Amino acid sequence: MSQTGQPQILFPYEAPPAAGETYEMAPGVWWVRLPLPLALDHVNIWVLDDGDGWTIVDCGLATEDSIAIWAALASGPFAGKRFRRLIATHGHPDHIGAARHLAQTFDLSLAATMVEWQTAVMRHGEMSGDALPGQTRFLIEHGYPAEKAARRSAFGKSITAMMSAPPELDSSFSHGDVVRFGQRNWRIIIAGGHAEAHASFYCEEDHILIAGDQILPRITPFVGVDWRTPEDDPLKTYLDSMAIFGELPVDTLVLPGHGLPFRGLPVRLGQMHKHHDVRLDSVIAGLDRPRHAFDIAGLLFPRAVGTGHERMALSESIAHLHYLLSHGRVGRTRDGEGVLLFERG
Ligand SMILES: [Zn+2]
Repeated sequence: MSQTGQPQILFPYEAPPAAGETYEMAPGVWWVRLPLPLALDHVNIWVLDDGDGWTIVDCGLATEDSIAIWAALASGPFAGKRFRRLIATHGHPDHIGAARHLAQTFDLSLAATMVEWQTAVMRHGEMSGDALPGQTRFLIEHGYPAEKAARRSAFGKSITAMMSAPPELDSSFSHGDVVRFGQRNWRIIIAGGHAEAHASFYCEEDHILIAGDQILPRITPFVGVDWRTPEDDPLKTYLDSMAIFGELPVDTLVLPGHGLPFRGLPVRLGQMHKHHDVRLDSVIAGLDRPRHAFDIAGLLFPRAVGTGHERMALSESIAHLHYLLSHGRVGRTRDGEGVLLFERG
C-alpha cells in the first residue's frame, strides 16, 4: 500500500543486475539479464537451484554477447554445478534463440509447450527464406504497400541471424500440470495472445510467478494477428487470460521476461486493461472514414511506420481492429482492389 492507502507496484530492486551478475530473488531463484541488440534491449533469465544442477528459464539470443555471458555465468556465479535443463516460456527468438548453443555446450535438455517449440522451428525455417505468398497476400489485404509486401522484413532478417534452430524438445507440458524444478513445485499456466501457447509458472507455496512475456511491468506485450490465422482475435485471448492471473495472491512476486520483477499484480493487470481500452478508443477515433489497418497502424504507432517494426505495428493494429469487430464496434468491407476497410459500426 502507498501512503494514501492505494495499492501500488513495488520493485524489490530499482535496477537490474549488470551483465554477468546475478540477484537472488527468492532462495535458490537467481535473476540474470542478457542483452538484446533490439529496441527492447534486454531479456530476463531465471536460474533455479536444483541441488545437483541448475534449471534455466529462457535463454536469450545466440549473439556473441549473450554467449560470452553464458560462459561467464557457468564459470562464475553458477560454477560447480551443471546447467542441466532449459525451460522456455515461449518460442520467440529472445527466449529460445540460444537454446541450441546451450544444449550443445552444457548438454542440457529442453522443455517447452509442444506448440511453442513447433512454432519456433517453423518460424526459424520461414525466416531464412523469402516472404511466403500467403503472408504477402495478408499484408496487401490490410493496405501494406504491395512493392514491399513480397520482401522479407528487415526485422525478420536481423532476428534470424541471432537465433539458432531450436534443438530437439525433450519434454513438454500442458495447462494445469505441476512440474518440479528449483526444488519447488510450479503450476503451469498456458495462455495465448502474445504467443500461441505461452507458459508461465506459479509456485503456490512461495507465491512466485515466472511470468515470461504474458505480464510485463511497464510495456505491454506484443499482441498481433498472424497471417496464418488471419481472422483471429488475439487481443480477446490475451485479455481473457488476465483473469487467470487475477486469481493469484496480491503479494505474488512476479518475475517477468523483460523489465523489473515486481509485486502488485492486481494493479498491473488493471493498468494493462486500461492501456488496451485507451488504444481501442484511439482506433475508433481514428476511423473518421473507412480505413485499412495499415492506415490505423500509422495512427497508433507513427514512429514504427517506415522502420523494421512496421509489420509488427500492422499486426498489432489488426488485433485491435478484430477485437472491435468481434464486439460490434466496427464493421468491415472490401474496396474494389480487395483491401479490407474498417469503419465505425
Ligand atoms: Zn520477450
